[in-house]
Amino acid sequence: MPRVLDGAAIAAAIKLEVAEEVKLLAAQGIRPGLAVVLVGNVAASEIYVRGKVQACADLGIFSELITPPETVTTEDLLDLVASLNDRDEIDGILIQLPLPPQVDAKALLDAVSPAKDVDGLHPVNAGRLQAGRPALAPCTPAGVIEILQRSGIPIAGQHAVVVGRSDIVGKPAAMLLLHQNATVTICHSKTRNLPAITRDADILVAAIGRPGFITPEMVKPGATIIDVGINRITSREEFDRFFAGNAKREATFAKRGSTIVGDVHPKAFELAGAYTPVPGGVGPLTIAMLMANTVRAAQMRRNLPRRGL
Ligand code: NDP
Repeated sequence: MPRVLDGAAIAAAIKLEVAEEVKLLAAQGIRPGLAVVLVGNVAASEIYVRGKVQACADLGIFSELITPPETVTTEDLLDLVASLNDRDEIDGILIQLPLPPQVDAKALLDAVSPAKDVDGLHPVNAGRLQAGRPALAPCTPAGVIEILQRSGIPIAGQHAVVVGRSDIVGKPAAMLLLHQNATVTICHSKTRNLPAITRDADILVAAIGRPGFITPEMVKPGATIIDVGINRITSREEFDRFFAGNAKREATFAKRGSTIVGDVHPKAFELAGAYTPVPGGVGPLTIAMLMANTVRAAQMRRNLPRRGL
């Protein structure tokens, strides 16, 4: 039986460590602060943001939710970011993506002070990560490394195959794995003979955004599979393709009219040595690492020593 890597438990452990750091900072009169900018009314974004604000409250981190209207201009958002950059009680600035089409998302992300870029998306932080310098790393890939390390899965010398090359997941995940001495292959939509490459992976990271894309014939038996994908499925046909005969999923689907599937087909997990389930695998780590990054930003900005994370 493959081992299920429990992301929720790992995220809870990380949050406890972050809460300890928050206490140490409080003893010095410092309260880390996170500003979350949520533009418009994207239902999924609202759910994510609620989770982030709640996590701040749970850990003693100050948070401020700013909700500009859907019609906001790039200029107004640049002014907002400039004011957040200047405010000393704000250590982290998170701009929830996606942004409406009239907003120049790149200009906005580039305007965030690299010292407050808790999503690790500023080119300065991407460069620092690449150069192996202390940096605020993107939360989801940082969470992938935490899952592997805290589960005792060796990374050094292993062949890690990352499917996906986005700036937010695939590329930084590959870089972090490389820094842990994996031999890394990055695959994308133009990769030829993908199954032959993924079949050679000791660690397979799927960050594609396509439900159940990684099928059993793409997996080496015994591999560790990290499924980053979050895909909502609503059609009965798709449901049956992934979860036919799964009573628990059937109940969720009947209740909500949808369920979540990762980028890995559930049948592919059966071949794995270990895997992260969806939901409950990588997802919970993203918020935990955001909390860790916020505390880290508070420490780095003040040249304070850091422990652990
Ligand atoms: P993007 O759409 O930005 O990137 C997808 C990547 O997958 C691209 O590099 C693309 O290649 C590649 N790809 C697409 N189709 C294929 C194919 N047929 N064969 C090989 N590669 C392919 O997505 P993200 O990186 O933002 O997200 C990936 C997944 O992770 C999504 O399901 C998303 O919801 C999830 N996610 C989960 C998070 C979490 O907290 N767990 C956080 C962030 C994302 P190319 O570059 O050539 O187009």
